[in-house]
Amino acid sequence: MIVLSQADVDRLLPMRDCIELMAATLASLARGEAVLPLRTVIRIPDSRDAFAVMPACLTNPRTIGAKIITVFPGNHGTALDSHQGAVLLFDSTNGSLAALLDATAITTIRTAAVSAVATRALARNDASTLAIVGAGVQGHAHLEAICAVRPIKTLHVWSRDADHARKLAAVGRERFQLDTSVSPRTRDAVRDAAIVCTCTSATEPVLQGAWLSPGTHINAVGASTPNAREVDSALVVAARLYADRRESALKEPGDILVPLQEGAITPDHIVGEIGDLLIGRAAGRRDDREITLFKSLGLAVEDLASASYVYDQAVRTGAGTRVELGGARRAAH
Ligand code: NDP
Repeated sequence: MIVLSQADVDRLLPMRDCIELMAATLASLARGEAVLPLRTVIRIPDSRDAFAVMPACLTNPRTIGAKIITVFPGNHGTALDSHQGAVLLFDSTNGSLAALLDATAITTIRTAAVSAVATRALARNDASTLAIVGAGVQGHAHLEAICAVRPIKTLHVWSRDADHARKLAAVGRERFQLDTSVSPRTRDAVRDAAIVCTCTSATEPVLQGAWLSPGTHINAVGASTPNAREVDSALVVAARLYADRRESALKEPGDILVPLQEGAITPDHIVGEIGDLLIGRAAGRRDDREITLFKSLGLAVEDLASASYVYDQAVRTGAGTRVELGGARRAAH
């Protein structure tokens, strides 16, 4: 078995490669080439913390495994990431455990890459102004991902902690040569943005539909549980809505469950999955004034496809640490 650390994954899974990989994976999912149950999430009593198990099997190429992860939002601002765990990847020819990979890095990169795939499919081609709401791990990863798919020139950042917002704006200036601003209010950050990414651990909406300009595309990345929301009902109602997986979108996020419970939308308000768009089964943006909204939840197939890609690179380059775990037939007595 190969053990691949956070540094290994960061090195072997470049954002641009991951974007193409996620596009292929979501298209494959839409064609029915995966077994993907809903994830199991255990809420840790008396806390906001969670433990999640996300298994899947891809058939093209054949990939078996699971991500096992904790989400401890209170880790934000400490030395530890709020998402920690491992992806277990099994050999699909003989069932052996082939690799154990750091899940923090895989989650970070694949989530932003999926938003890039959605943005490439849904945002206006000339979208050049990006607003990032929430300057944590995902906020930083989304800056890189969105710059890879649209000609971004201007970045507006809002984050609860202005120092965190300033750090992300500095990356925008120094690494991506963008004009940047740090906004005191979310509504100022998003007012003239063509693309908005909400990447917060907020439980109440941080983004209101009334603040957006016509033609904006939104990637709503946080709020993956029924009791958390990042966007208000007015935005969901006004938007042409897409999901990574319809089944998950109708079960997991407050962003969709609350407007459903209010009767503001019905399940068919979801136009389609991103994979449906990619294989031509769902239509995308219909004009330059439409608001499009991608509700991201994160899928085990994204983790497994990423892990499999990293594993192949590790085998090719000799990266990672080899460990003998067991699994060989014991000598018969
Ligand atoms: P981090 O812990 O690195 O960052 C948390 C972010 O949330 C920070 O920007 C923080 O702002 C902000 N924040 C926290 N509480 C609030 C609040 N009450 N109101 C407004 N902003 C708040 O987390 P990540 O960047 O890793 O994850 C961000 C979100 O994305 C989380 O909800 C996470 O669960 C979700 N996620 C979704 C995935 C998917 O596939 N869809 C995958 C991975 C994560 P500040 O720094 O200014 O305090």
